[in-house]
Parts: sequence; structure tokens; C-alpha cells
Amino acid sequence: MTNLSDHRCVACEGVDLFEFYQLTHLPADTGSLASTKQEAVESLSGELRLAFCRTCGFVHNVAFNPDLVRYSLGYDASLCHSPGLAIAMNDSVHALVNDHQLEGRSILEIGCGQAHLLRSICQHASVKAVGIDPTTLEAELQIGTSQLRLIRSSLQESHRELIGDLIICVSVIEDIAEPLSFLQMLRSMIGDRKTSLHFELFDGFGAIDAGSVWSPHYEQCNYFSESTICHLFRRAGFNIVRSGRVPSCSSYLYVDAEPSEPQLPGVVDLKEQILAAERFESETRKQIHHWSSQLHQFSSDHKRVFLWGSGGKAISFLSLVPGSDSIEAVVDVNPNRQGLYIPKSGHLVISPEELRSERPDVIIISNPAYQSEIELELLRQGIECLVVAA
Ligand SMILES: [Zn+2]
Repeated sequence: MTNLSDHRCVACEGVDLFEFYQLTHLPADTGSLASTKQEAVESLSGELRLAFCRTCGFVHNVAFNPDLVRYSLGYDASLCHSPGLAIAMNDSVHALVNDHQLEGRSILEIGCGQAHLLRSICQHASVKAVGIDPTTLEAELQIGTSQLRLIRSSLQESHRELIGDLIICVSVIEDIAEPLSFLQMLRSMIGDRKTSLHFELFDGFGAIDAGSVWSPHYEQCNYFSESTICHLFRRAGFNIVRSGRVPSCSSYLYVDAEPSEPQLPGVVDLKEQILAAERFESETRKQIHHWSSQLHQFSSDHKRVFLWGSGGKAISFLSLVPGSDSIEAVVDVNPNRQGLYIPKSGHLVISPEELRSERPDVIIISNPAYQSEIELELLRQGIECLVVAA
């Protein structure tokens, strides 16, 4: 553990931080895969130095450089191609439409990606929706009785006029280098309006606490818990209306908030969280050793091994485990990622249909949350092999 005297917490501005986990040469991009193997091998890498704030309990990467991550057209980290996640998104849409009484309302989604969520909301309620994202295609669409406008940009103060009744932001705040400044800007843009906010985010600290060692990746610079995300909102000038786990996706947290005055949280007991952070590195070393031995054994037994999933966890696994070059290819259900290459490791991403002709002996699942739907897909493809979760 190293105390950091030259950094401040980007959630509470405290200066009592300690560093508990470091990775070098981690692929910087997980949303944009490379179109050639050469481009993949030469892709940019960054450094991960996770620091824990002893004042508020927030964890972030103090070495994060947002310029290394390309949020350009073609970026596609969407999980909606997973049947399980598609059902979860449908449940989320119903909950949003009912809880926020969206009929006839105006909505802004920050970081809408390819607008899967907004399109679905537009089909379930008559709304005026705007999505903003540097990777989206500009469009003005009529969906049923709803209007949807997509703007290709990151959010700026000048977008004040886009704010209406509800702001939605899903899987974005984990990747924002200065999350407090971002929420303070949003608070200032809202002004006196009675705008509600609905944020969903990955429970990054929960992953650290559970020893989910492939979870940290470069794009994800912030590792919130329910407590630290609520503190952040209060500090930026919002009241928490409700918060908790997303019912259909337990590794995600949600926060519903409304504009208020900034509030400073009291002293927090962080003993348990500090212990969780301190044991993360030894857990990672243990898992890397285990999987390196496993891959060596599979290789000695002439097994054809594939990895399922091309997201952050898969990219971390391929970057960290010695011997992962023996893995034949990576499988992903997202057609926008198939035919492309994983940054740094250069593995090709193939479809489940292509996997069938590859006659795999072993499939390693990078994210155990999808194990049952992957096993169903293998059954559908008539593939029989050993399936293990990393
Ligand atoms: Zn802090």
C-alpha cells in the first residue's frame, strides 16, 4: 500500500489516498476493437493505479488519461445483444416509464450510445427524447407518437436547452475522469428546473469486494459503491430520492435524484472497505497463477480453447494471464464486434455460429453472469465442450 501525497480524490477532493493495485500496459480501448490484427497489437495502452480515499471510500484510477480512450463513431460496448440483458433492459424501460410517469415528458439521455434505451422508451410512451453521445449517428426520428433527436457530441454547458423533465445516464459516470465536476456542471445547467435524474452504473467497488479480479479495465476509471455514488450526488447539489441495485441486473446500482443544495456527508466508517481493497492484489495474483496453469495444461493436452465475451473483463483476462495467446479466438454475440480484433492480444472475435465449425474443447466465460445464457446458446449450436467461468 502506498500513500499518495500528490493526488486528490475526484469525488470529495480529499487528499488522504492510498494506492492498492497497479497494472501497466493495459489496453486503453474496450469499446472500440481494431479492424486488423496489426492495428490491435499496436493499439494504445494505459496504466491503472487504483487508489482508495480514506475520507469518503471512493476508488479511482489516479493514472487515468481520458485522451487515450477513443469515443468515436463505431464504438460499441452495448450489451443489448445478450438475450438476458435485452430482457433486463425491457424491464428497466417499463420501470422508468412508470416510476417517472414519462408519458408526455421530455427526456435527455447523456451517453446514449446507439440509443437502444431511448428507442425502446419512445415505443412505450409518447415522449420527446434527446440523446447525446460522441459515438452516436446524428438523427431526427419519429417513433410512433414520440420524437427522438440524436446529437453526436459530449455534453457541454451550452447544451442547457436540451434539459427537460428527466435526465438518464447509464454506464457513463464510471468512465468520467472528474465525476464531481461533471455532476456540478449538470446541477448548474439544471438551474431552477424541476428535473429528475436517473443514473445506472456498475457496482465497481462491489466487484473489488467480491474479488472479481478481471473487472478493472482502463476505460472504467471510477469504482463506486452505493454509498460513494450517493455522497457524490449530495456533494454536487442533489437529493437522493431512492437508490439501490438495479432489480434485473444485480451488478448495477441505480440512483434517482432531484436538484437541491450541496450537502457535505459526515464521517464514514471505512474499515471493511479498506480491508477489501487491501486483499484485492493478492486475490488477483492467485487467479492469474491459477489460469496460467490451466491454460498450460489445456495446451499440453492439445485442447482447443476459446474465450466467450469481448468486453472489459475478457480484455483484462487476455492481457493479464500468461499463456493466453494459446486461446484460439474470442466469441461474442454482438455482431458489431465480430470480425474485429482484441486490443493488444490481437485475438479475432467470432460469432457463436462460427464457433461451431471450430470444434472447441474448452470455453472460458469471461463474465460468469452470462453463464446460463451461453450454455443455452451452445446447446442451440449443438456444441458439446467443457465450459468454465473465469
Ligand atoms: Zn474521497
